[in-house]
Amino acid sequence: KINNKEDVIKAIETHNVKFIRLQFTDIQGTVKDVEIPVTQIEKALTAGISFDGSSIEGMVRIQESDMVLRPDIRTFAILPWGRNKGVVARMICDVHLPDGRPFEADPRYVLRKVMKEAEEMGFQLNVGPELEFFLFAKENGKATTIPNDYGRYFEFAPTDLAEDIRREIVLTLTDLDFDIEASHHECAFGQHEIDFKYGDALTTADNVVTFKYVTRTIAKIHGIHATFMPKPIFNDSGSGMHVNLSLSKDGKNAFYDPDKDMQISDIARYFIAGVMEHIKAICCIANPLVNSYKRIVPGYEAPVYITWSGANRSSLIRIPTPRGNSTRTELRSPDPSCNPYLTFASILAAGLEGIRQQKMPAKSVDYNIFELTKEELKERGIETLPGTLNESADHLEKDTFLREKLGAHVHDNILRLARAEWDAYRVQVHDWEIERYLNTV
Ligand code: GLN
Ligand code: MG
Ligand code: MG
Ligand code: MG
Repeated sequence: KINNKEDVIKAIETHNVKFIRLQFTDIQGTVKDVEIPVTQIEKALTAGISFDGSSIEGMVRIQESDMVLRPDIRTFAILPWGRNKGVVARMICDVHLPDGRPFEADPRYVLRKVMKEAEEMGFQLNVGPELEFFLFAKENGKATTIPNDYGRYFEFAPTDLAEDIRREIVLTLTDLDFDIEASHHECAFGQHEIDFKYGDALTTADNVVTFKYVTRTIAKIHGIHATFMPKPIFNDSGSGMHVNLSLSKDGKNAFYDPDKDMQISDIARYFIAGVMEHIKAICCIANPLVNSYKRIVPGYEAPVYITWSGANRSSLIRIPTPRGNSTRTELRSPDPSCNPYLTFASILAAGLEGIRQQKMPAKSVDYNIFELTKEELKERGIETLPGTLNESADHLEKDTFLREKLGAHVHDNILRLARAEWDAYRVQVHDWEIERYLNTV
C-alpha cells in the first residue's frame, strides 16, 4: 500500500519503473495524461508538473492556461502492459492553478467538495457502479457493430467467446487493486458486465475511469473493440452504469432501519427524494450523449419513469433485496459514457439536499409502470426522464442548486457541450428519414 512519498519512490525502485503517466480527466470524463520519465518524479511529487490546459475540453480560459498536476499518491499503480521500453506506472492527479489553489473545474475537486459537505453532515457515501459494455469485431483494423459473440444473459462458453477476454480484464483490474465481485455476459449479443466492490466516491470514480481504459486496452490487444457507447444497437439492450448508493454514519449503514417500512430508514427516503427531485438535470451529466437517450426507452430494463420501488426493475431507483449493512439504493439511469466524478457529485449533492429538507418521496411503486396508461401515469403524478439531450440540458440550465454545487464554470461548460452536441445532431439527415420519406413524400 502506498501512503507517502517514500512509498512511491520505493515502489519505483522495486519495480524498476521507467515512466510515469500523470492522469486527469476533462469535463467529459475523457482521460488525459502527461508522461514523465522517472527522473522527474521528485519534482512531480513536490512542486507538481505544469501543463498547458488551454486545449483541454471545458478546462480553462486562455489567460490562465498554465495548470499544475499534483499526483494523488494513493492512486500509484503499475500498468500491466506496454513494457517493452520499460515499466510504466500511473498516478491520478488533482489539477491546480499556478498559485497553488485547486482548479474549480477539475472534476475530482468538484466531487471532493460535495464529499466534504457529506462529511460535515456526518455521512460517508459508498458507491458501487455496474458497468456494461459491448465487445465488437474489428474489420481491417476498424471497429464494427458486429458482436464478438452471440451469447445472451448469463450465457457461457462455447457461446460466450469472450470468456477469456473477460477473465483477462478481471485479472488486469485485480493487478490494479480492484476487488472484482462478479462478471457475466449481459442480455445483448456481445454485451458484458463486470462488477467491482463499492468504495468511497472518489476512489470509485477513479476506478471507473481506470476500468474503461483497461477494458478497451485488453480488447485491443485481442484484436476486438470494447465500447461504452450507451446504445450501439437499435432494438436491443443498451449499456447502463447502475449506481448503487448508500450512506454510512458512525460506521453504520444509515439507509437501514429494521423498524421502518421496507426496513429502510427515513434518511434513505430523503436521499431518494432529493435524487428524484433533480434527476432530470442530473441526466445531462449522467447521460451526456445524444445516444444516451436512445437507451432510456421502454423495453430494455432501462428506466423511463421517475419512480422508486423495492426490487422491481422498472423503476428509476430500486432497493435491492439485501438489508443490514448491504442496504442500498440502485440508481439505474446513468450510463457509462458519463464523467463519473461529476455524476457522483451531482447525485450526492441532490441526495444530501433531500436529507437537509427532510423531503419524503412519493409513494414507492410495486407494479410494472410500463403497463400504465398515460392517464394513469398522470393521475399518480409519475413523470418521465428527459427524452433528449436537449431536454435534459433545459433542466440542467434551470437547476440553480446544481449550478451552485458543480460551480458556474462546470455548469456553463457542460451546457455548452450538450447544446453543441445536440445542434450537430439536429442538422443531420439520418438513414431512418431517408427510408421513411424518400419514396412516400
Ligand atoms: N442493460 C440494462 C440498462 O441499460 C440493464 C440490464 C440489467 O443489468 N439487468 O440499464
Ligand atoms: Mg448488474
Ligand atoms: Mg447489468
Ligand atoms: Mg443493476
